[in-house]
Amino acid sequence: MENKFDVIVVGAGHAGCEAALASARLGLKTLMVTTNKDHIAYMSCNPAVGGLAKGHIVREIDALGGEMAINTDKSTIQFKRLNTKKGPAVRASRSQCDKALYSKFMKETISSTPHLSVYEGEVKKLFVENSSCGGVFVGDNEVSLLAIKAKATIITTGTFMNGVMHVGREQKSGGRAGDKASIGLSGSLKDLGFKVTRLKTGTPARLHKDSIDWSKTIPQPGDVDFFPFSRKIKKLQLPQVNCYLSYTNGKTHDIIRANLDKSPLYCGIIEGIGPRYCPSIEDKVVRFADKDRHQTFLEPEGLSTDLIYVQGMSTSLPVEVQYEFLRSISGLENVNIVRPGYAVEYDFVHPTQLKRTLETKEISGLYLAGQVNGTSGYEEAGGQGFWAGVNASLKILERDPLILGRHESYLGVLIDDLVTKGTEEPYRMFTSRAEYRLLLREDNTDERLLEKGYKLGLISEDSMNDFKELLRESQLLRKRLKNTTLVPNLETLERLKSISSAPIMKPTTLEKLLRRSEINFSTLEAFIDLKATPSVAEKVEIAVKYEGYIQRQNELVDQSKRLENFKIPLSFDYSGVVGFSNEEREKLQKIKPETVGQAFRISGVNPSAIQALLIHLKGRDKLKTILVQ
Ligand SMILES: Cc1cc2nc3c(=O)[nH]c(=O)nc-3n(C[C@H](O)[C@H](O)[C@H](O)COP(=O)(O)OP(=O)(O)OC[C@H]3O[C@@H](n4cnc5c(N)ncnc54)[C@H](O)[C@@H]3O)c2cc1C
Repeated sequence: MENKFDVIVVGAGHAGCEAALASARLGLKTLMVTTNKDHIAYMSCNPAVGGLAKGHIVREIDALGGEMAINTDKSTIQFKRLNTKKGPAVRASRSQCDKALYSKFMKETISSTPHLSVYEGEVKKLFVENSSCGGVFVGDNEVSLLAIKAKATIITTGTFMNGVMHVGREQKSGGRAGDKASIGLSGSLKDLGFKVTRLKTGTPARLHKDSIDWSKTIPQPGDVDFFPFSRKIKKLQLPQVNCYLSYTNGKTHDIIRANLDKSPLYCGIIEGIGPRYCPSIEDKVVRFADKDRHQTFLEPEGLSTDLIYVQGMSTSLPVEVQYEFLRSISGLENVNIVRPGYAVEYDFVHPTQLKRTLETKEISGLYLAGQVNGTSGYEEAGGQGFWAGVNASLKILERDPLILGRHESYLGVLIDDLVTKGTEEPYRMFTSRAEYRLLLREDNTDERLLEKGYKLGLISEDSMNDFKELLRESQLLRKRLKNTTLVPNLETLERLKSISSAPIMKPTTLEKLLRRSEINFSTLEAFIDLKATPSVAEKVEIAVKYEGYIQRQNELVDQSKRLENFKIPLSFDYSGVVGFSNEEREKLQKIKPETVGQAFRISGVNPSAIQALLIHLKGRDKLKTILVQ
């Protein structure tokens, strides 16, 4: 076993895999250490990737040169596009994956990537000297720890640090079912001065498919049209399956209510805060007491497994209670539980202790990414892993860091939220967290990010050329819509009437017609043969229909960029600035924002404080000149 690397990644989950691949692909000698080699890229919970805002993150990882999108497309067993009838900003893709294949494909990619090795072992503590992390100590006991050196270390330990699993009043040490907890590393971080506290999350039971009466459930097929997450994948690779819908009922809720005293959540055993937006069924029954039913989707975990994931029914009630309430649900009257649901409590590191590169502020060369930073979900983890892997590598290579703004990516929103606002509960991405969400659509991901991935060295020349070709096609189509005019003859008027659209009185361009809410690209094709690739047609339709809104958001971005351009040195002393309240001074000193824009987003820091900060940084006269430019 070699003991000197450029980058060590601790963990082989969704964050760890992206971090290790990014660093190795940038040419750095990388070691990924994991407590369980068989569980690389293991899906601890729902076997699905994507959904609102999360799907956007997956596409962003792809545009920058990460792996999650390709891996998801390759293992998709059901694809759906959500919110197709709503505005373009909130349309999103979701793939149900074959859990075993997801892990297998990622393992294959990792083992075939040059410069990347995997080592099975537990990182117990960090090697830190003069506020700089020089590597890790791996092993089972304190006396025979193996020292492995590296220029950068990225911790991606998910739910494993001091993990405790709960089923009813039973508690067991563990990072998740089938994996032991990570003991030691959390203490090492605390000893270094990091603020570490507890969170919790939970998962539902897995059911045996032959014990379900499917005739009593409602089939939920996937979409016929597939919009791959990755540019590299053109079509579905696996047979597609149905999911099924059923509902809880009054009896289910009565059983849960009658057993709340056995739930570790409700009898005070669990202290960590759980995910607000992914509540357990106990939580739902208590918080939404007026609802007489909750839906539950029965989702196959793969093509060659008998396991069914029962979505929306995460629980930590005792097994016998899980049986009782599940068997009250239509179709599950005789169900067999293969693995009970459980909750897991774990240590996380408050992310306001990180720079925007995800390097810690206090210990150089030490990065944190994924659920260990207080997030929840594979996509949030993958995005952070990629970001940390790239930035750790760029620092070693003495290149500029990769920092994406809130206006150019959900990844930018995610990282900025974490390092600026922190989180006290599992953080999940939503479209509502992005103030410029009309600019951050799935359809324009490559326009926003592909060139950045190319400049990083993670996107090939061929991909860049294909993209330029697609852009050319969009521009040509837009030109055609601008230059093609329909005259108000009988045929046109009849066609407009047939789609309940108002008549035109004078020659009108196709572009103008497309702005009408009742007209979309396919209705336009009834007037004239436009022949466009579906993704190009969608891109152009959105650009035309939402032009005014997009322009307004771009203007807002330009205004906010001025504050973003004011850099604040990490060593800046806020005690010398006149005009702050005590609370503002304290928060600024703690978060140490890297730009005035970031300072502006700290809750409790008012516009007057920002004005005072700007004056201090630039001087009153110079500031006036800069702000009016
Ligand atoms: C019970 C449960 C329920 C969940 N429910 C949901 C949900 O409802 N919704 C949702 O979005 N997400 C849920 N998740 C979260 C989802 O699984 C995670 O967000 C995602 O897996 C986090 O990815 P990660 O890479 O940060 O960590 P993980 O995927 O957890 O990977 C951690 C990795 O670190 C390794 N490791 C840990 N400690 C050490 C060490 N000291 N040395 C070496 N290796 C180490 C492990 O072996 C593993 O490879 C749930 C997770 C669990 C466990």
